[in-house]
Amino acid sequence: MNTDHIIGQSPLIAGMKRILAGGRIVHAYLFTGPAGAGKKTMSGLFAQALLCTGQGNKPCRQCIVCRQFQSGNHPDVIRIKKPVDKTAIVVDQIRELQGIVKVKPYQAGKRVCFIEQAHLMTEQAQNALLKTLEEPPSHTLFFLLADNTNTLLSTILSRCQHFRIGSMSGEDISEILERRLSISRQDAAVYAALSQGNPGKAISLAEDDTFRHNREILIKGFSQAGSAGILELYDIFSRNKDRKEELLDILQIWIRDLLILKETGEWNLVVNLDQTHLLKRQVSRFTSAALRDMIKNIEESRRMLKNNSNYQLTVESLLLSF
Ligand SMILES: [Zn+2]
Repeated sequence: MNTDHIIGQSPLIAGMKRILAGGRIVHAYLFTGPAGAGKKTMSGLFAQALLCTGQGNKPCRQCIVCRQFQSGNHPDVIRIKKPVDKTAIVVDQIRELQGIVKVKPYQAGKRVCFIEQAHLMTEQAQNALLKTLEEPPSHTLFFLLADNTNTLLSTILSRCQHFRIGSMSGEDISEILERRLSISRQDAAVYAALSQGNPGKAISLAEDDTFRHNREILIKGFSQAGSAGILELYDIFSRNKDRKEELLDILQIWIRDLLILKETGEWNLVVNLDQTHLLKRQVSRFTSAALRDMIKNIEESRRMLKNNSNYQLTVESLLLSF
C-alpha cells in the first residue's frame, strides 16, 4: 500500500494492508473517530487503493482511476452527506442511493459509496440502508464514516468491518502542520499539543485568527496580577460566549503547564512552549496547591456551564477565584 503522503496511523494502515494483501474485501467498512481525526483521509486512502488500476504499490496516484478519485470526479464514487438545511441524513437520500447501486458501475470494477456523518442517519434511513447491506450488489462497497457508534443500529454495526481512528502523537500532528501550513516547528508543536491528538482540530486552531488572538489576551491577562488582568479576561469571556469551552481549555492548559513546571521542572511536558519566558516568570508566583485549586475551579465552572448555569455569574466567580 502506498502511504507516502500519510503521517502516523500505523496500526490502522497495517490493518488495511492485511486486507489488501489477503484480498478478503467485505462489502461495508465503518470508520469511527471524532471530527478532525482523519476519517475522510484514511477511508479515502483505502478506497483509492481498492479502486486503483495501476501497477505495484496502490494507490499508484497516477492511473486514470487515481486521478479521477483525487480530483473528486470518479463517476463511481458517491458521497452521501447531511444536507445543509437538515439535521440528519434522511431516508430519501438512502433510497436515492439504492436506485444508483442497482445499476452497474460506469467503469469496469467497483463502485464506492461513502456515507459521511453516518451517525446522523435517522433510524428510518438506517433501516433502509440495512436492507442494502444485507443483500449488497457485488460491485459496490459502502464506507460509513461516523464520529461514534452511539446512534448506529447494532444490525448496521454487525454488517461492517470496523476501523477505529485513534488519536495521533503530538510529533505526527506537528509534522502535518509543518507540511500543510508551512508554520514554524515551535508553533506547530503548540497547536499539536492544544489539539489533544486530533490533527483536524490542530489545523483549524492554527488557521483560526480569533483563537490566536484570544489565547494571547488570556495568557497576558492571567499573567497580570490584580484586577486589570481579571477585567481583560472577563472581557474576552463576555465577547466569546460561543467559544467558552475553548477559552477554558486555554486557561486550564496554561495553569497545568505551571503546575508541571512547579512540580517536575520538565519542559518536555509543557504545551505552551512559545511562551517560556512568561511561564518561567509566573511559576514562582503560585503554590502547587493554588494551581490545583484553579484547575479544580475551571472543571467545576465547565460542569456548571454545561448545566446551563448563569454565564456571567459563573465566569465572574471563576475569574475572581484566580
Ligand atoms: Zn492508481
